[in-house]
Amino acid sequence: MSDRGAPIYLDYNASAPVRPEVAAVVSAVLECGGNPSSVHQWGRRARQTVEHARAHVAALVGADPASVIFTGGGTEANNMAIFGAPAGRILISAIEHDSVRETASASPVAREIIPVDISGAVNVGALEELLKAQTGPALVAVMLANNETGAIQPFRAVADIARAHGATVHCDAVQAAGKIAVDMVDLGADTLSLSAHKIGGPQGVGALIARPGLDLEPMMHGGRQERGRRSGTENVAGIAGFGEAARLARRGLDDYAGLEVLRDRLESRVTDRAPDARVHGAGGPRLPNTSCLSMPGVASETQVMAFDLEGVMISAGAACSSGKVHASDVLTAMGTPPAEAASAIRVSLGWATTAGDIERFTEVWLALYDRLAAREAAAVGGRHG
Ligand code: PLP
Repeated sequence: MSDRGAPIYLDYNASAPVRPEVAAVVSAVLECGGNPSSVHQWGRRARQTVEHARAHVAALVGADPASVIFTGGGTEANNMAIFGAPAGRILISAIEHDSVRETASASPVAREIIPVDISGAVNVGALEELLKAQTGPALVAVMLANNETGAIQPFRAVADIARAHGATVHCDAVQAAGKIAVDMVDLGADTLSLSAHKIGGPQGVGALIARPGLDLEPMMHGGRQERGRRSGTENVAGIAGFGEAARLARRGLDDYAGLEVLRDRLESRVTDRAPDARVHGAGGPRLPNTSCLSMPGVASETQVMAFDLEGVMISAGAACSSGKVHASDVLTAMGTPPAEAASAIRVSLGWATTAGDIERFTEVWLALYDRLAAREAAAVGGRHG
């Protein structure tokens, strides 16, 4: 493989790099101090900072600023939406993030799974059948875009069907926001989750956007901050950084759309040379920055480590728990054969990704493929010829 240059970061869906403008805002706010609940001048300044950020976060998703509840991240926002909704059953798609899946399992009400098709899109007909089968208050939770494949969900259709059956609808928009245009009203969501670190903001801050008038039980009790919906002194610096990241993300939507060209180039370079490579979710609409691809016969973790040695940072499509790698639940739900699911990686591009980065990625991928395919061929007597 050729010379290693500067490290290449292709893991924006895990955490995007903090934007320099955001770091500057966070550091300036940290120096100011003050509690937004205090009535004195420092308190009023901190309150102003929070409200300024709230307006930017609301604007990113076409919401009213009063509907923004700042949280400690996307996971907390999803927990709040699930535990706070008055529901007797929860219907979630088969490809939800753990922060929805595990929370729905932990909730005292019954959890039902809505299947997805081979391109990773939720089966709206199956949702309708599930809703028809039982009456009573239900919560439907479907993400807007999947974190592993980038598959964009037919959310408006989901919301329309859910509404027709009197269900509340939650949208995990953590991966979609800032990468594609998101409008809470057009989507028809009652609640929507966001996370700052996916859009160039700091980690540990996010928001739940709750439709005005929605009955939502708070999870955190105490000082009644956030209009009583989330107690606890606000993370003022983090929130300010989130606001700045949201402002920049809204402005940068066209740049994100442009990443599709680089992503498609990456995929065609790989599949032109390695026809047995698989791109997951390519049959439907996807985020412009995400590619989930399998290198046949090479475990995801092996690829991640090999790329890391070459200075390229990516993620495994497979999750690793208790030291044991298992095939991605998302790919399994899409009906992907186990061997393909266990050899998938996720590559996610962002604003700093260059054509050179994609060149380097494909160079490393193809060299790895040739090396490991050659080894495999030697082992099995020439499968690749
Ligand atoms: N939802 C989705 C789709 C995600 O990808 C993530 C993070 O990976 C989360 C929720 C959780 O967000 P946070 O890391 O802010 O808790």
